Amino acid sequence: MSEYFNVADIFGENVFSDKVMQERLPKKIYKELHKTIDEGKELSPMVAEVVAEAMKQWAIEKGATHYTHWFQPLTGVTAEKHDSFITAPRADGTILMEFSGKELIKGEPDASSFPSGGLRATFEARGYTAWDPTSPAFVREDAAGAILCIPTAFCSYTGEALDQKTPLLRSMEAINTQALRLLRLFGNTTSRKVTPSVGPEQEYFLVDAEKFLQRKDLIYTGRTLFGAMPPKGQEMDDHYFGTIRQRIAAFMRQVNEELWKLGVSAKTQHNEVAPAQHELAPIYAEANVAVDHNQLVMQTLKRVACQHGMKCLLHEKPFAGVNGSGKHNNWSITTNDGINLLDPGKTPHENIQFLLVLSCILKAVDIHADLLRESAADPGNDHRLGANEAPPAIISVFLGEQLQDVMTQLISTGMATSSKSGGVLQTGVRTLPDLFKDATDRNRTSPFAFTGNKFEFRMVGSRDSIASPNIVLNTIVAEAFCEACDVLEIADNFEEAVHDLIKKYLTEHQRIVFNGNGYSDEWVAEAERRGLPNIKSMVDAIPSLVTDKAIGLFGKFGVFTRAELESRVEIKYENYAKAINIEARTMIDMASKQIIPAVIKYTRSLADTVLAVKAAGVDTPVQSELLAESSDLLSDTKVALAKLIEVTDAAAAMPEGRERAVYYHDVVMTAMNELRDPVDKLEMIVDKEMWPMPSYGDLLFEV
Ligand code: ADP
Ligand code: MG
Repeated sequence: MSEYFNVADIFGENVFSDKVMQERLPKKIYKELHKTIDEGKELSPMVAEVVAEAMKQWAIEKGATHYTHWFQPLTGVTAEKHDSFITAPRADGTILMEFSGKELIKGEPDASSFPSGGLRATFEARGYTAWDPTSPAFVREDAAGAILCIPTAFCSYTGEALDQKTPLLRSMEAINTQALRLLRLFGNTTSRKVTPSVGPEQEYFLVDAEKFLQRKDLIYTGRTLFGAMPPKGQEMDDHYFGTIRQRIAAFMRQVNEELWKLGVSAKTQHNEVAPAQHELAPIYAEANVAVDHNQLVMQTLKRVACQHGMKCLLHEKPFAGVNGSGKHNNWSITTNDGINLLDPGKTPHENIQFLLVLSCILKAVDIHADLLRESAADPGNDHRLGANEAPPAIISVFLGEQLQDVMTQLISTGMATSSKSGGVLQTGVRTLPDLFKDATDRNRTSPFAFTGNKFEFRMVGSRDSIASPNIVLNTIVAEAFCEACDVLEIADNFEEAVHDLIKKYLTEHQRIVFNGNGYSDEWVAEAERRGLPNIKSMVDAIPSLVTDKAIGLFGKFGVFTRAELESRVEIKYENYAKAINIEARTMIDMASKQIIPAVIKYTRSLADTVLAVKAAGVDTPVQSELLAESSDLLSDTKVALAKLIEVTDAAAAMPEGRERAVYYHDVVMTAMNELRDPVDKLEMIVDKEMWPMPSYGDLLFEV
């Protein structure tokens, strides 16, 4: 890390950016490539050849020795296989550095070990990775040297998506097409492309690496499976936005530097609510770039933490009893000429368009709340959603007071009256008030909040890829736009029709709007009265992917085939079962080999003391009481351990699929909680010197 640097000098220096391409590619080739990037035109082999050569030259100048297709299989993390640029030695023993257009566009890793959910039998190991020219290639520097990374999609031999990027790109095409239709209705003839923009706010924990390595649960599962609450938690609110300690600051500085070099616009950093918790937010980018960048952010956080003697925990709930980590997914839709469709705007024309867009989104979120909920489901997030800290598992939309008011008026009278200016406004005809001037306090309890010119989907888990939520958002909104356009394109009187449609959508879907406290019990009851789904766990969320509604939606817009959805369902059940199985086995391991032996040691020392003191003719009420108490808890522990072993073995013996995942959720998780209970009580009794691992206090307050 350099001492001081000018951000503008290093920003994007390791990216094969547009500027680099402009400098290094012949004009004609650069133009052709842009047709692919901007308009989705197919890339010709000739263009690929020239681009590959330029990319190779550039990467080698950066010190790169290898290249890799960098892709996102359904494991939740990225995958890569490095190939060096070298060719077979020539007769004189020297080598050339080679990288062809073919190698740029297409890779063919042995895909047999990636999850495919039955889409591909193991003997058909072929999988293809295909360059995504809309996400720039970059050179990554780490202990392996410098590697040219080419963002790619990953498909099976028969073209089914085996990754996150392929459906994301498909969903971006869907919303582009439908949003352009909508814009044309409003007389916009100039915008050529509409793209979803995404800004993910990444939360994470940092703990000391030495302490981390003493906790098998953190090593194997990314979260603590045992642990009594320390005397202090987050109740003082003194960590949130607090001064950043020097060790953390040095870490953040290096993270920023590395991300900036990779063209990731790291913007905001601060301490979060829980002790040892922090946040990093980049400036928003096009959805697929944002998804790739978020993977880079997560990887960089982890790598740099190690270099600073720390470990970065991306798990959604590393510690019980203090806040977990999420990833707010800020989402908007913007034209290539800079119009944000979610910006309320100042002119009536744009406001009507905005109200239509808004009512379409409300409709989409209401109809497909189950899919949005599913898109944020992972085993870690189950501990967060619905717990008293994160958005509840019920999807609702926060609009804020003023928009809510406009909506109510539109529904009841078909007119929106500005309370501020007092003017009466007929939708579609006269001036609408500036809705957002003093609009709207923040609502931290809403899972889906309108925040000025974007929606913030707050359910997403910290460790998860943000691809799924954005695939769902893009597709459900594309559907709503499509249905609106189907009506409006054939309307005789557009202004009347659009007015009626807004009113209809708002009336039919107002139940999804909720501006109150999403953490309250009253809301749970109210949501139930409104008929909103409250899907509490990942295993209950998964089936929403294969309802007729979902298959129809994703099929219509070419985002997922039925087979792709079914394969994803299979993979998700399996991933869930595997995750809980690892957690259960880790608890069994820790309880058997660390905790029970430690408690035995402690009780033996107590018993020895009791005997010795008694022999001296003195009473030992305290020692005897502690001995009885810890012995009781020890036997509770043993009983709970035996039970956990039994049910985990039973679960592992079940055939793969939904039933097994549900069993892990209902039975194994319950047994895990029953084992944790006496162990956490024992931690509060046993001599700290004898407790076999660092406590919550050690982990959270001694970083
Ligand atoms: P807040 O603190 O209110 O959540 P910020 O302004 O800090 O919001 O932004 C949070 C994230 O939202 C950042 O990544 C930011 O770049 C992103 N963001 C801002 N405007 C938009 C937009 N129009 N579309 C998508 N993301 C946006
Ligand atoms: Mg936010």
